[in-house]
Order: sequence, then C-alpha cells, then structure tokens
Amino acid sequence: VGCGICVNKCPFDAIMIIGLPEALTEPTHRYGPNGFALYGLPTPQVGRVTGILGPNGIGKSTSVQILSGALVPNFGGENGDWEKVLEHYSGTAMHDYFKDVIDGKIKVSQKPQYVDMIPKAFNGKTIDLLEGTDERGALDDLIERLDLAPIIDRNIGDLSGGELQRVAIAACAARDADFYFFDEISPYLDIYQRINSSQIIQELSAEKAVLVVEHDLAILDMLSDVVQVAYGVPAGYGVVTHPKGVRVAINQYLKGYLPEENVRIRPDAITFEVHPPRVESDIATLVDYNAFSKKYGETFSLETDSGSLKEGEVIGIVGPNGIGKSTFVKILAGEIEPDEGELDIDVSISYKPQYIKGDNPMQVQMFLRSITRRFDTSYYQAEVIKPLNLEPLFEKMLSELSGGELQRVAIAACLSRDADLYILDEPSAHLDVEQRSLATKAIKRFAENNGKTAMVVDHDIYMIDMLSERLIVFEGKPAVYGKAHPPSSMQDGMNKFLSDLDITFRRDEDTSRPRVNKPGSRLDREQKAQGEYYYRL
Ligand code: ADP
Ligand code: ADP
Ligand code: MG
Repeated sequence: VGCGICVNKCPFDAIMIIGLPEALTEPTHRYGPNGFALYGLPTPQVGRVTGILGPNGIGKSTSVQILSGALVPNFGGENGDWEKVLEHYSGTAMHDYFKDVIDGKIKVSQKPQYVDMIPKAFNGKTIDLLEGTDERGALDDLIERLDLAPIIDRNIGDLSGGELQRVAIAACAARDADFYFFDEISPYLDIYQRINSSQIIQELSAEKAVLVVEHDLAILDMLSDVVQVAYGVPAGYGVVTHPKGVRVAINQYLKGYLPEENVRIRPDAITFEVHPPRVESDIATLVDYNAFSKKYGETFSLETDSGSLKEGEVIGIVGPNGIGKSTFVKILAGEIEPDEGELDIDVSISYKPQYIKGDNPMQVQMFLRSITRRFDTSYYQAEVIKPLNLEPLFEKMLSELSGGELQRVAIAACLSRDADLYILDEPSAHLDVEQRSLATKAIKRFAENNGKTAMVVDHDIYMIDMLSERLIVFEGKPAVYGKAHPPSSMQDGMNKFLSDLDITFRRDEDTSRPRVNKPGSRLDREQKAQGEYYYRL
C-alpha cells in the first residue's frame, strides 16, 4: 500500500490500494466542495458497444447526465460552462461529441437500472407503453425477439421482474436516438434471455453509440467492443479509465490491478480454478434425496431425479427462468411439500429464498445477533461481516435497505445459522460486480472452512464456475414443465446446459475465466463437433 503522494510512480514500488486522483488531475465534475467527484468520462462512439465495469455509486448516472447534456461538467469549479467544456476537450473526439450535445443534436435513450420502478411511473397496458417508444419501426421485431407477445395486453403493474426487464430493453432500443444507455440488462433474466438481449444491443450498435453497465462478466465480455473500468470509493469519488480491449480490461479487473493507471483496485485477485474432479469414493455422503414431483394446478409440473449430496461440496443449480429451480429448493428446504415422493431428509437446512422480504422492523446488527452467537468472534467478522461489507449497514433498519444491501444481509443471515446444508437461491441478484465476487468468496470459504454442503441457484456463469464442484441442470419448457437431473460433474453438467443453449465457452489463457466463443468461429465449431461445450480436455 502506497502513501498516496506519488500516485503514478512510486519510488519504493509500493502500489496504492485505490489511487488518489485529486493529487493528479482536476475532476470532470464535482458536486459541491466536498461532494462526490467524477474523474474521466465514458466515451461513447458510433459503431461500438462501450461496456462500463465497476461498482455502483461510482458516477455512472452522473456520467450519462453529462453525456446527454443535462448536466454541465464543472471541472471541480462552481458552475459548469459549455464553452469551457469545448475548450477542455479541444482536439479530441469528445469535443465534437459535446458540440453536437450543445447544438441539440444528441438524443439519448436510456434504460433505467431499477426496472421495478417502472410500474410507479407508468400505469396502463404494456403495449401502450411500448407503442409510445416505436420511433424507428423496430417494435414488432423487438416484441418477437424478446418474447413479449404473450404479455403485451397485460398491465405493467402485473408483470414479473424478468418481463419488466425485457419490456424496458425493448422500449429503450425502439427509440430513435444517437446514444443508447443500458444501465444493466441482466437483472431478473436467465442466461438465454441475457444472451438474446446482448445480440439485440450489438445489432443496435452498428449505427449508434451504445453504453452498457453490466455486472455479469460473461455477458459484459460477449457484449462489449471496448470496456472502460470504473473504480474509486462509492459515494466518494469515481474514476473512469480510457477504453481498453475487452479481454484486457476484464483480466485487469479480476487481477485487481490496472497497469496503465498504476492503480490497485483490490488487495487480491479473483481467481478461477479449472476444477480437478474429486475422487468420489473419498467423500462421505451428507444426504440422499428421493425423486419427487410437484404440480401447481394445471399449469406447471416439476419432476426430479433422486440424488445425493456430499459433505463439504458446493452444488450449482442452473436452468432457464420458470423451470422449477426455486420450487425444487423450496421442497428440499421443507418450505413446501411435494405431491409425490417422500423426501425423508434428516439434515438441518439454512435457506435463503430468491425473493427476500425486508419487512422486519429491526436493525441489521440486532437481526444478525439474533441469529448467531458468534457475532463478536474474529472468525465471524473476517468471514462474514467484512467480505459482505455489512458494517456500514449495522444501524440501518432492514426495511430501509436497498435491494443489494438486503441481499448481502440475507446471504449473511443464511450463513449465520447452524445447519448441515445451506441453500441459496440467486445470491447474485441486485449485487454489483465487486459485491458478487466478494459474496462468491464468502460462500465458498464458508463451505470449505466448515466442511458444509451448499447449493446455489444462479444465472451468473462466473459465480457458478467459481463456486461449484458439481451441477444440477434443469431442462423442460419454462412455465409448463421442468425436470431436475441428478447432480453431475461440472463437465457433464455444463456440457448439457450449454448444448441446450447452443453456445460454447473457452478458458482465458491468462486468468482461466470462461469466455463465450463467437458463434460459428473455428473454436465454436470444433468444440460443438466434439461435444466439449465448456471444458476442452
Ligand atoms: P452510479 O450511477 O454509479 O450509481 P451516481 O452517478 O448516481 O452513481 O452517483 C455518484 C455519487 O454522486 C453518489 O454518491 C451520489 O450520492 C452523488 N450524487 C449524485 N447526484 C448528485 C447531486 N445532484 N448532488 C450531489 N451529489 C450527487
Ligand atoms: P424458477 O425458479 O426456475 O424460475 P419457479 O420454481 O419459481 O421457477 O417456478 C416454476 C413455474 O411455476 C413458473 O411458471 C411459476 O410461475 C410457477 N409457480 C411458482 N410458484 C407457484 C405457485 N405458488 N402457484 C402457482 N404457480 C407457481
Ligand atoms: Mg427461481
């Protein structure tokens, strides 16, 4: 850790954990004398998707306000002035961009981050909302490709999160704008829908400038043409780097160090292991569960194979939305009863549901203390409180937490209970990219250090890859029927899951992280021919 004086070049080779850009340059914008300061800016460009990689609270919305002309950057001074902005950027592409902004030639279309808010702003039928955005005659195509036909006559207030997200993506893309900003596309969507939306956005970028913030790294990787890393101290200051190559930017981010900027953004690297298969006979079985089935009226039915869970392993659970994953884990957790099949599980289970309620009138610290007696131990502080960054939330009421804050508390609460089996349904939801990696580590270390078994349902391939030793794959027809396969090796499970999706992954040579192969590329064709969708042997 450096002293903060020589941010760029330290004579002692110490590296800053997060540089102090104030010492270097003036900010692009600062809200008041001690307010949040933004350094640098995203640089949208026609013909490419610019991905932004970084935590929330780092100045994304501020940037987009500047890029849309709604906020005049003040370079740390009192009032912004467009003349000064042009002067500041003279000789760069941003000069011409801001000239167009000032001349009113830049029209911006934005997809908001929190789609749950849409019903509060719009009251009426889905089709009425969508028709109001149909400025380039692309709406019919978007409705078809985003599978919105079945819901266009429903009220916006009755839509699920995943439906709202797809409506919001369609509405943003349907407008005729110069600059499109998608503030996250993946929340509530399964991997099929994430890939589908990515393709739509890429096509849009052929003739337009597109900026995307995305916390699912596999999706950011396949979607972006360049990536700008955003780092800093949330609510304190944010720095947006120059555009970098996508692979380079994500690898630098994972390693926690940006060489061009000479800034360390995290004390240690996020690492991927290419899991060596464990020798099955070495590991004791925690529990065997029987096959069971469940029907919801005449609409949906779930069938499962029997399976067994080993001691100390993490099992990933993957499949599309509406296929019965949550129903499956709720039955294992004893929250609901199966119709057929005796479960007969005699282990204790701690369960984090997919949809978490924050209606408890209690402070976060009191809540966690009511669950665990180990709260004051250094173990609990180091393994739960710190990685989930809960300390700033201690005094807050559960009812006033944001989605991401509530998720972190819910993960902590799940890991705080004494149990043999821990089940977490979609822990990555509402978390930004940094929080996801910390949560992943917390869950993995918890299982490893305590020899506990965990099951994790998630759509984030990076999280599933880092966590899981084995995989349960669901298949079927969403909202109609679902089938849960028994736990299989990561290799067999991923090959099954990805062959249904018709995409292949390779491993990055540098970091071993999984990367989506370009459809039809040599690797893609070779791996499909050999049935190696995920692992190349
Ligand atoms: P992000 O979109 O990355 O989550 P924002 O750009 O919305 O971040 O906000 C960055 C920081 O700037 C936050 O700490 C926020 O409180 C602060 N901020 C945003 N708008 C204003 C404003 N109008 N006045 C003062 N501070 C603001
Ligand atoms: P997943 O977790 O894979 O998205 P779920 O298990 O939540 O799937 O749901 C599977 C299907 O069952 C969905 O079509 C869902 O709408 C339906 N469903 C879930 N819970 C109920 C319920 N209590 N009553 C009726 N239908 C339900
Ligand atoms: Mg679910």
